[in-house]
Amino acid sequence: MPSKLRAMLMATDVIPSDSIRALVRSGLFKLAKSGYTGVANSIPTPYISFFRTRLKDQLEKRPTLGSGVTSIFDWLVEAGESYEYVRPSPGEEQLEMGRLIRRVEDNSLPSLYVLHPVSLDLLGHRYGPESFEVMASAKRLDNCVRRTLSAVVDAETNLLCIVMSDHGMLPVTGNFDPAPQLRAMELTHGQDYLCFLDSTAIRFWCLTEESRTLIPSSFRGPGHFLTDSELRSVHALSHSRINGDLFFALDEGRVVFPDFFRRSRAPRGMHGYFAQRYDNPVALVGTSNSVEFEAAVRRCAHVDLARLLVDHLGFHNRHPLDGETIGALHYT
Ligand SMILES: [Zn+2]
Repeated sequence: MPSKLRAMLMATDVIPSDSIRALVRSGLFKLAKSGYTGVANSIPTPYISFFRTRLKDQLEKRPTLGSGVTSIFDWLVEAGESYEYVRPSPGEEQLEMGRLIRRVEDNSLPSLYVLHPVSLDLLGHRYGPESFEVMASAKRLDNCVRRTLSAVVDAETNLLCIVMSDHGMLPVTGNFDPAPQLRAMELTHGQDYLCFLDSTAIRFWCLTEESRTLIPSSFRGPGHFLTDSELRSVHALSHSRINGDLFFALDEGRVVFPDFFRRSRAPRGMHGYFAQRYDNPVALVGTSNSVEFEAAVRRCAHVDLARLLVDHLGFHNRHPLDGETIGALHYT
């Protein structure tokens, strides 16, 4: 990282507001035509150079799962088909859903259209999932979803509409500041180990043999280090060290605070727990009159929804996927 940029980023470390710090930092990265820290915008400057940053443009041009991993967006491009991925700002969501309804009626949608409203996530983190703010926003979105689904049912083309959450959210019951524990380990960050403070997990990379034994035996908090069999159960036991060597997962309801996402305001709602009971996605599936769908709406896994989607797009034989499709599609 250029030293001038580093000096200016150091100055942002003391900005007392998370949102203002994020704005100033993204402006600085843009000016320096350098990488971008993404949503982990509260990462202290001395830590930034240890982690790979990315260019914002790259991320937004084609939604990506990471280098070397292809997604349905890549498959569509390869097949010469079109897609649109739209993530409106929270104030624009209802307007964008109105535009979507008109395009369903006009039959002017691409092969795959993804609308990603983020307001419930932002409000849930800020006010808590059971707050008035979340309830009011959910009611507004429910109304838009109802109108969209009825437009889909009336459509004359073969439309499949999946309305799904990417996760749920739990009220936060307590914060955990790992800084005193990290200091007490008598290991030096950047020499003996690296750590990344996610909101519901702390990931460690061990740079010395000593740290590999000392960290799991001395670091304590409201959670536990994941065992190999736990990692295997979520398809996360990997020989690559890119995501970490040791994973300390917090108990449900607890959050790391401050973490690399928030430093000035603790969240009141959180998702992404290892042992999750509340975080499973729920989905509604709607089809146009020319497509019959046989299935009961139920709690489901993302991998199963992905398979339903690729079945409808006709990619099921071309790309191997985990998961079982939900129900059966019939075209009349
Ligand atoms: Zn979130």
